[in-house]
Amino acid sequence: MSATKKTAPADTKTLPGFETNPSHILPQKLTLESTLKFRCHPGVSCFTACCGPVNIILTPYDILRIRRGLNLPAEEFLLRFTTPTYLEKTDLPGVKLHMDENGRCPFVTPEGCTIYPYRPTTCRYYPVGMSYFHAAGSEGSGAEEFYFLVKEPHCKGHEEEHTQTIREWRIDQGIDESDEMNRDWMEIVMRRKSFGLQATLSEPAKKMFFMASTDLDKFRSFVLSASFLDTYEVDEETLARIKEDDVALMHFANKYLASSLFGTRTLKIKAEKVKERAERIKQDQANAEKRAEETYKELLNDHEQLKKQVAEKKQRDLERLKKAKKK
Ligand code: SF4
Ligand code: SF4
Repeated sequence: MSATKKTAPADTKTLPGFETNPSHILPQKLTLESTLKFRCHPGVSCFTACCGPVNIILTPYDILRIRRGLNLPAEEFLLRFTTPTYLEKTDLPGVKLHMDENGRCPFVTPEGCTIYPYRPTTCRYYPVGMSYFHAAGSEGSGAEEFYFLVKEPHCKGHEEEHTQTIREWRIDQGIDESDEMNRDWMEIVMRRKSFGLQATLSEPAKKMFFMASTDLDKFRSFVLSASFLDTYEVDEETLARIKEDDVALMHFANKYLASSLFGTRTLKIKAEKVKERAERIKQDQANAEKRAEETYKELLNDHEQLKKQVAEKKQRDLERLKKAKKK
């Protein structure tokens, strides 16, 4: 949107790649060169009507950008302005903007968005959506990105005489930067989503995902702890950067999540730890084999006992028969 104070529509704001109410999506695939006829500005009759109630999931970069704008530590920002939620169609916990008692975004005023320069990605995208498409048989090749338009009756921005390409729209809204910053995290979420709800994460893994995605202050303390640095290879330069630079820390958090959730090699475990783990697995295997051998021996023993009992019974029966015949 080209308005100085941008707002967006009720109920349907979603992250690119997440669900949008299908009845409001125009059935047309758009590209970067497609034309968008839309403008949002303080003069539209619906101005700010769309800033609540609305479901706005926050990405790690959204959280970082807004709280830096407000000059708040992560914990205070999360407590005051967010509500925990699950990311759509996944078992991954995240946060969404907490609507006030009137169901409105805490940052909206009659004059518009008070955090406009650092508003969330979702608010920047509206009314454009982005989706990824994997053609059948194209596994391994990159997904095709395409755009679509969300057109809701209450949004009068579509009646404005202002046209631009999707590419121009993205530049105007600062979407390129948001997408670049969100990319790795979105990939983790989409990958997890592709597993479906049947695949469940352990509780510690969920807690770790939540911390690394929402509270970089806590994640920093975790990374700088002795046990983390004892386990993972982190070079001096990276370590110095993530001590000072939140964006570098956020990228590092995404690497850590990809590595711990999907076993990617984006973060290396120290050689001695790998050795320790291999030893542990070997030992577990040896213990299991020993237990299996003992169980087998016990079974053999039981079997022999049983055979003996059957033979003895047979013998007793024969003798009883012989005695009966003599009589
Ligand atoms: S962050 Fe700003 S644009 Fe987004 S819903 Fe709130 S007031 Fe509206
Ligand atoms: S034009 Fe659309 S995006 Fe802008 S304030 Fe109105 S409803 Fe919200």
